[in-house]
Amino acid sequence: MNQPLTAVKAATPMKPSESNLAGGSHSVLLNRRFLTCRECGWVHYVMTAEEKAANDRLLERYRLSATERHLYESAFRQCLRCESPAGAFAAAQERDLARAAGHIVTPVFVDGEVGTN
Ligand SMILES: [Zn+2]
Repeated sequence: MNQPLTAVKAATPMKPSESNLAGGSHSVLLNRRFLTCRECGWVHYVMTAEEKAANDRLLERYRLSATERHLYESAFRQCLRCESPAGAFAAAQERDLARAAGHIVTPVFVDGEVGTN
């Protein structure tokens, strides 16, 4: 009975580097809501309000002008690729996600109901 426990303990020092390799940007995308741009098919993941707030705080130090601020905000509400409004995105399907595996999935910040109907 003690055998498996010992094995787990011995393997533990390997864990951090392993999870760093496999994790990083990928682990961020687990349990996410994904939305697909209806115009060009680009897949985005939905940021949580907490993440958006954290991002906003990071940006405060740059003292953006009103215009820059507007650009920053609108970047989260449109397609990275074709600039379609994120409010019109559809919930991502299996095939969208398969295609998205080859590109960088970018965040959008949208209302909760986007992509649910
Ligand atoms: Zn698009």
